[in-house]
Amino acid sequence: MEKLVLKDKREFDIYPDSVQKNVCMVDAGREDLLVSDPKLNFPGELAEGADGKMYVLSKLDHAVADRLRQLFDWTAPSRVLGSRDKTMGVGDRLGVACDGHLRVFKKYPEITPILAQQSIRELTLTNRTFADVLDSATFAVFRNGYTTGFGADGDHVKTSEEVEYALNSGYTMITMDCSEHIDNSIDSLSKDEVFRKYERNTELESRYLNKSFDLGEGVVISFNEELFKRTVLIYADAVSYAEGIYKNNVCPNGKARADFEVSIDETMTPTLPEQHYFVAAELTRRGVKVATIAPRFCGEFQKGIDYIGNLEQYEKEMRIHAQIARTFGYKLSIHSGSDKFSVFPSTGKETRGRFHLKTAGTNWLEAVRLIAVKDPSLYREIHKYALVAFNEASKYYHVTTDLTKIPDVDTLTDGQLPDLFKNNDSRQLIHITYGLILNLKDDAGRYVFKDRMYSLWRTYREDYAQYLFEHIGHHASAILLK
Ligand code: ZN
Repeated sequence: MEKLVLKDKREFDIYPDSVQKNVCMVDAGREDLLVSDPKLNFPGELAEGADGKMYVLSKLDHAVADRLRQLFDWTAPSRVLGSRDKTMGVGDRLGVACDGHLRVFKKYPEITPILAQQSIRELTLTNRTFADVLDSATFAVFRNGYTTGFGADGDHVKTSEEVEYALNSGYTMITMDCSEHIDNSIDSLSKDEVFRKYERNTELESRYLNKSFDLGEGVVISFNEELFKRTVLIYADAVSYAEGIYKNNVCPNGKARADFEVSIDETMTPTLPEQHYFVAAELTRRGVKVATIAPRFCGEFQKGIDYIGNLEQYEKEMRIHAQIARTFGYKLSIHSGSDKFSVFPSTGKETRGRFHLKTAGTNWLEAVRLIAVKDPSLYREIHKYALVAFNEASKYYHVTTDLTKIPDVDTLTDGQLPDLFKNNDSRQLIHITYGLILNLKDDAGRYVFKDRMYSLWRTYREDYAQYLFEHIGHHASAILLK
């Protein structure tokens, strides 16, 4: 590797893919630095090279990220969700996964990544900001010379304040989470109860009640009275809410500030194709231009493990959902997509290669698997704490984890620890406790695990990139049409 040598004898390896005219990134041990010609006006330390030239050495902070985005537009996110057929969200919660992700997308250039993708909950649990998450992506894109574009997703934002926070941080995609406006109580009601609860809405009745819609390709959507009333009771509020956010925040004065995704996936029951149709038709009629909609598909999309459910039914419904999306001209978005290997081929096929696939937590699992491999005793500490923290964490996730199926780590050799990541129950144990693990502090207010984990991830970053190259690469290859 080429080196930068300074007059004061300091030496740094230059990342070969980062070399641009008058600027590059170097490895300074515990951190990376940006090195530039002083005339580019990066903030930082002025230093003389052994070659007699002057350089500015900059820490990778927000001001430096902003300057990079000014100078190289490909280091800034763009609206790829709507403009590219195949996109994949890879949420780098920790800020250490992008190098591995970019290797995947260099290998599969037909898929464009949404590198920065974080929900408010994830920001809180990792003590990060939207700006910080985006800056990590910008630096990784620069370090790897990835010039073909990426997106940034304010994921599962729920209020206009959260939407503004993401937009003002430069995010190019908003995932509008309408779950608080979806009435989960309706599904368990009887037909009579639904009829009693329904309030007349002559406008919607004239559009949908006892009407059929032929979408082509053999797909016909129709609403009998019960289905119509249930659908209105569950989804009408969510549609109006999404419309308000779109018109007030995302696309004020008819000019869109970002791509818009409407997510109705975080509900108690799957979205029936008819209900998906209703949401899409109403949004379209009201002038809301969505790039993607995320229904909740049949079966279970639990965190960090493969699909649970009837594959035949999934394929059948996916075909209809995909036809609905094509009818209105947006892409389907598949959430909780980590590790859903058994449904990727049919998803790729039925969407005809136009999709957005979201993954996130599996990157964390790979990061902890790396710890199990490289520092077994640290892993044992984390694992034991996760068992204690599981109950608290399980309040926030829908999982069916059975802790009794996880072997006692004291009975395992160091070499057996990584195999825990092949066990669905121990995957979920580590998956859902991530916030508690990262935030645990001792009596003196010091992090118990976080600093040691980050230090290990820095030391073994090449291994981590390779893990992700294989694991996320497996996702990408499985969903691409053969
Ligand atoms: Zn979701």
